[in-house]
Amino acid sequence: MSSYVQRALAQVEKKNPHEPEFLQAVHEVFTSIEPVLDERPDYEDARILERIAEPERVIMFRVPWVDDHGVVQVNRGFRVQMNSAIGPYKGGLRFHPTVYLGLLKFLAFEQVFKNSLTTLPMGGAKGGSDFDPKGRSNAEVRRFCQSFMTGLWRHIGQFTDVPAGDIGVGGREIGYLFGQYKRLTNEFTGAITGKGTGWGGSLVRPEATGYGAVYFAEEMLKTRAESLQGKRCLVSGSGNVAQYTVEKLLDLGAVPLTMSDSDGFVHDPDGFDREKLAFVLDLKNRRRGRIAEYAERFSSATFTPATDWDANPLWAIPADLAFPSATQNEINGKDAAHLVGNGIIAVTEGANMPTTPDGINLLQTADVLFGPAKAANAGGVTVSGLEMAQDSARLQWTREQVDDELRTIMAGIHSAVREAAERYGKAGDYVAGANIAGFKKVADAMLDEAVV
Ligand code: NAP
Repeated sequence: MSSYVQRALAQVEKKNPHEPEFLQAVHEVFTSIEPVLDERPDYEDARILERIAEPERVIMFRVPWVDDHGVVQVNRGFRVQMNSAIGPYKGGLRFHPTVYLGLLKFLAFEQVFKNSLTTLPMGGAKGGSDFDPKGRSNAEVRRFCQSFMTGLWRHIGQFTDVPAGDIGVGGREIGYLFGQYKRLTNEFTGAITGKGTGWGGSLVRPEATGYGAVYFAEEMLKTRAESLQGKRCLVSGSGNVAQYTVEKLLDLGAVPLTMSDSDGFVHDPDGFDREKLAFVLDLKNRRRGRIAEYAERFSSATFTPATDWDANPLWAIPADLAFPSATQNEINGKDAAHLVGNGIIAVTEGANMPTTPDGINLLQTADVLFGPAKAANAGGVTVSGLEMAQDSARLQWTREQVDDELRTIMAGIHSAVREAAERYGKAGDYVAGANIAGFKKVADAMLDEAVV
């Protein structure tokens, strides 16, 4: 490891000792961009690493609200505005009980490089709350969202910071958040993305992350003269990303075998089809039920409840492709060994940082095509960027226009990542390629904008 990377990492570790996910993300980026740092001593002179790992601003606020029993509840709200060198802050909001500052710093840090890769002018941010929407009524979620936005609105805006959804924040929550934002500012602007298509949203935004991940997988497969046709796929999660990953896999002739939620996973050896996916969409988006119900409805499937397993049996099912699309660190070294043992061809990260460092190492050593989140799941923020463009222009593109643009940008990200990896002597290493390509653009902008 170079002395600059060592020093910068030591400083980040000392300053953020209780934030393991953030340290994991910073470690991965810093160590993989060493060839660039060797070539560009001016980055060290300008202390780019030290600055890029320090959020420009962190907002933390109280979110008080009243539940259906009249009891006052108090949650914590956050927005981490990580880097605005190349555009206004942009990144999702996560509502999940595991949310704390360190988790959002990891997500905001990753977002900076991901947004840079999209080629659109967007800085990086992430926010959210430790609020758990699960089991809450619509009225409770609405009261929470309105209180959350009352704390956040003065810090965001179309030219400042544009939040979107993430875990626990889907179309319903975006509606409540946007309504309150509009009420408080007395303005209708594109300050939030993921809006309904009847009120400023972009077509294909709900589908974009999942579709984009599948487009990215398709590009990776092309480099080995392979296609998605007939490929058996393991998908984790059953939320926004997983749902539209499964849909696009079906469009392109692949065979999705699994979906999951935090209670466990379903395995359908016959594969999901349109009817089965429609059941999942209704279950998750309307009835807000658990994935176990899938196995009650379709006799071809089995449900395996989640336990404190060392290795998740989902990843031990023989298949050709894997799309982890639930949450961070869901594929560890043991899971990766199972995937490799079963001859997996590609792992495409739909979720953010779903693979642990030893998992990545094992997959890459075994020459598995490994598409890291900041490249593979950039489709969501890409269409969010296109939603911002449509809002500014006061018009709406057609579904075909947005989908074509998404596909083109995902292919562009794939080429940029491959080229960066090759140029710096790491051919085929998508992790290094994504980090290098994403980092250079932001670092150069930071140099141009001086010490701010
Ligand atoms: P979502 O709609 O809320 O779905 C999340 C899914 O993952 C649910 O099935 C959930 O199960 C499961 N899950 C969440 N936390 C879990 C945990 N700790 N253990 C096991 N399962 C868990 O969220 P999403 O938007 O699909 O996001 C999924 C991942 O993609 C996240 O890593 C997110 O950061 C990333 N991502 C999302 C977007 C986007 O546009 N939405 C863009 C880029 C990246 P339960 O319902 O049981 O919790």
